[in-house]
Amino acid sequence: MSAQKTYNIRCPQCGHQQKVELYDSINVTQQPELKTALFENRLNCVLCGSCESAFRIDKPLLYHDPGRNILIHWMPDTAVSREEILDEFDKSMEELRAVLPEDVEPPRVRLVFTRTELVELIFVIEAGMEERVVEYIKYTIHMQNQGRVPPKTKQLLLNVQDSTADELLFAVQNAETFELEEVLRYPRTAYRSMREMYRKDPDELSELFPGPYISARSALMAENPVDEE
Ligand SMILES: [Zn+2]
Repeated sequence: MSAQKTYNIRCPQCGHQQKVELYDSINVTQQPELKTALFENRLNCVLCGSCESAFRIDKPLLYHDPGRNILIHWMPDTAVSREEILDEFDKSMEELRAVLPEDVEPPRVRLVFTRTELVELIFVIEAGMEERVVEYIKYTIHMQNQGRVPPKTKQLLLNVQDSTADELLFAVQNAETFELEEVLRYPRTAYRSMREMYRKDPDELSELFPGPYISARSALMAENPVDEE
C-alpha cells in the first residue's frame, strides 16, 4: 500500500503556509503511475496556493516494489547526519528481520540519500545489473582519474537508459551544484568480466560495499576522510 499523510508546508518563495498531502511510501507494483511521477520529478511536488511557485519536498520516502521484492529508503540527509541515519536504519532493519516469518525471503533493502541516487538505483535493478559491480566500476574510474573526477567534489551516475550494448555511460555530477558536467564511457565487456568475478567470489565487493548504502564515492571518502577545517 502507498501511504500519504497531511503535512503543514511553508512556501520557500513567499512563506505562505498550507496543508498538503505527501507520500511517505509508494508501492509501485500496485501503483506504477507513482514511479512515473517520481521519474518525472512530480512526486511530492507542491504548488503554492498564494504565489503559485512549484517546489519539491524532499522527505523520507519508502520505495516499495513487492513484485521485485525490493525496498529502498530515501532519507534526505538535510536535517540529520548520515551516521545518525545509518544507525536508525540498522535498528529498523533488525526490527524488520525479527518480525518476518522464517520462510519469507527478506526483501532486498537499500538506502539512498538523494532522488538522483534513487532513480539511478531503480534503473540499475530493473536492468538486472549488479549494483556492487556498477559501484566498483565507479570506484576504479575515481581512482584512475583523481584529477578529473575527485570523489570529494564529483559523483558518478550510471545512465542506464542511454547506455548501449557496447558502452556504459556515466554522467559526472558536481556534488555541490548537482549539475551534470560531462559523460564518461566504459566498455560493457569490462562490466561483464567483473560481474563474472563477483559472482564467483562475492566477498571482496561485499566487504567494500556492505550496504545498505552502496556507494563508491562514499567508500572512497571513508578511506580518505576530508580534513575538517
Ligand atoms: Zn508561495
